[in-house]
Amino acid sequence: MRKPLVAGNWKMNLLVADAVKLVEGLKPLVREVSGVDIVVCPTFAALYAVGQALKGSNVKLGGQNCYVKESGAFTGEISPQMLLDVGCTWTIVGHSERRQYFKESDAFLNEKLKFALASGLKVMFCIGETLEERQGGKMNDVLTRQVTEGLKGLSETDFDKVAVAYEPVWAIGTGVTATPEQAEEAHAFVRGLMKAQFGGNVSDAVRIQYGGSVKADNARELMVKPNVDGALVGGASLKADGFAAIVKGAI
Ligand code: PEP
Repeated sequence: MRKPLVAGNWKMNLLVADAVKLVEGLKPLVREVSGVDIVVCPTFAALYAVGQALKGSNVKLGGQNCYVKESGAFTGEISPQMLLDVGCTWTIVGHSERRQYFKESDAFLNEKLKFALASGLKVMFCIGETLEERQGGKMNDVLTRQVTEGLKGLSETDFDKVAVAYEPVWAIGTGVTATPEQAEEAHAFVRGLMKAQFGGNVSDAVRIQYGGSVKADNARELMVKPNVDGALVGGASLKADGFAAIVKGAI
């Protein structure tokens, strides 16, 4: 039985005071939840304060991105060591917005994933096709490439610390959610890829989150599907009650 993983990706939203307020609101709402791993991923600027506010709670802290070096002349970047230093245990790697706006390639994301893992972070590794790719019948090819290239070189034990987030780009921030059947089909396909690449132990154990316009009212029907092991939530993670309801939808 895979433990669901529900994470909030706050993207470039919330000043520090509002970020702290959000987790102060969230903590009591999810205090009793024990069957779900819960993560919030604030902006870098809010990580320290949110990390302090989360101390002693069952909500973990994550970064939204990180670089492939520990320190040095890499203006504007942040290292996994810095994320760990402010209390992160997780980071997102390969979000579609990084792929699209910052031109992050499969090879670079593979490097990031490996460096983050070697540094001691757990990683939510995002994959997903665009609308054009889906309509052009390329969905399986795209997912195959992203899994094959992105997860290249990982060993079976690495997967204790890696979750895959299937996020169809056409569903992110659009209000259009994949149907539970579409999500299940894609997740089963990705799990099959993982089986071919890493074997049955990994494919049985790896958590595959769904992301793309998840809200309180559609979370449960998505996460109840056998291959959907939680959610990566953008917009709806910015409200404590909505995010808490999504977390509870995973139980
Ligand atoms: C995301 O950014 O990972 C995401 C899924 O966003 P939203 O929930 O807003 O579609």
